[in-house]
Amino acid sequence: MRFDLVSIFPKFFDGPFEYGVVARAAKTGLVQVRTHDLREFTHDRHRTVDDRPFGGGEGMVLKPEPLFDCLAGMGLSEKKDRAAARETVVLLSAQGKPFTQAMAVELAGLERVVFVCGRYEGVDERINELLCDREISIGDYVLSGGELAAAVILDAVVRLLPGVLGNPDSAKFESFGVEDAGPGYVAGEVPPSTHGAGGLLDYPHYTRPAEFRGIGVPEVLLEGDHVKIRRWRRERALEKTWRNRPELLKSATLTKEDRRCLSDLERTKMEE
Ligand code: SAM
Repeated sequence: MRFDLVSIFPKFFDGPFEYGVVARAAKTGLVQVRTHDLREFTHDRHRTVDDRPFGGGEGMVLKPEPLFDCLAGMGLSEKKDRAAARETVVLLSAQGKPFTQAMAVELAGLERVVFVCGRYEGVDERINELLCDREISIGDYVLSGGELAAAVILDAVVRLLPGVLGNPDSAKFESFGVEDAGPGYVAGEVPPSTHGAGGLLDYPHYTRPAEFRGIGVPEVLLEGDHVKIRRWRRERALEKTWRNRPELLKSATLTKEDRRCLSDLERTKMEE
């Protein structure tokens, strides 16, 4: 899979992609990451990429010409043919659709993703109209540039690509996992997978030592009864989701037992 990043600060990406999963995927050839310096597509002495906004107001806007020339030279398909070519051009924007794990899965099914990183007040809207296929936001806050947002999305996508993670199940059965509790799962039974998923947040994890600063690892994890461990993990995943992201429970796959666990949590809360 190939990624292209268009930015006025291409060196910004030297750091984030030099470590961990993305660096490994690039080294083994599973992904190619190319950066494009927008200033190379300017034609004036000062390499100007921005200008004042029409209509007045705060700040500056990224000019359309350098962005257009940069994207035009990338050998991308016409906008109307991009889906068939499994390519997409993403404009990073606080005004975009919120990025989700489901979107990461969709992007991981493509061959090429181009990220247009805005700066200042943003990008001249005609670039969005003419060249971009989607506008994505990584959250309800304003960053000073699209580079961090692009790096976040690229990281989330790369770890989903076949062969990138040592254990492919790691990317299936985790928080926001789009997959259910695994093959063989029967509603009403304890999920056969050791993992939660099914739209829940992940359960809490522990490693050695068994006791740290007076806090012991939950007994059940030390006893070796895997049915009990699965049940405990499922309950803790439900509890985390209920506490931190209750809205996710509406679309999660819940068994009768899960619902009982949630009622118990509600009851305990009322009694507190
Ligand atoms: N004037 C814009 C607004 O109010 O929506 C904010 C512009 S912001 C200072 C500069 C650039 O950062 C944007 O063009 C975009 O590329 C990027 N950016 C800021 N917040 C973002 C977010 N939540 N998600 C993705 N990109 C973001």
